[in-house]
Amino acid sequence: MINVILFGKPGAGKGTQADFLKKKFNLIHISTGDLFRNNIKNKTQLGLLAKSFMDKGDLVPDEVTVDMLKDEVNKNSDVRGFIFDGFPRTISQAQALDKFLKSINMTINATISLEADDYVLEKRLIKRGMLNGRSDDQDISKIRNRFKEYNLKTSPLKKYYDDYGKLYTISGIGSINEIKNKLINLIKKIN
Ligand code: AMP
Repeated sequence: MINVILFGKPGAGKGTQADFLKKKFNLIHISTGDLFRNNIKNKTQLGLLAKSFMDKGDLVPDEVTVDMLKDEVNKNSDVRGFIFDGFPRTISQAQALDKFLKSINMTINATISLEADDYVLEKRLIKRGMLNGRSDDQDISKIRNRFKEYNLKTSPLKKYYDDYGKLYTISGIGSINEIKNKLINLIKKIN
């Protein structure tokens, strides 16, 4: 099995690259952001709750996020592996993920961080917001709050995975193709 976490700030390219990698390695792509947006679209209770946080660019509470993630993994048995995109985003989510994966005899093979400077990411997100209509991509104060959430709650995960020897870093600057090839080579190497 190959289980990879794609890590990085909003706009780093996690979703775009996960789309390629899932096809290349025949993996299931789980994006917690997409799952929340689907719940919002379908007007579920979870969607209603998530929206109140997402609209401000805040993280959704750990408990509901972890439960949603577990449900999604459990729905996909007998698979070659998973790409986790946008999860975990806090130390507590990472610990819950470790515990959960262990209980089903799985483990994370690699956490790959896509790195880019804030000013590049801001420009990308504003452009993306014009195309996808996402309100949290269109408002600079929401974007900056998402970066703040990342710096405060998510960036400590780099040390968490580095301590396990599982952290890999790739520049998120360059053409989509270049980054894709670097990711493919890295996953082939660690697998
Ligand atoms: P994304 O599509 O990954 O940029 O996520 C969009 C928004 O969904 C984030 O700004 C959070 O409000 C929420 N979200 C997505 N994944 C998580 C997570 N793992 N933990 C908490 N909130 C999340």
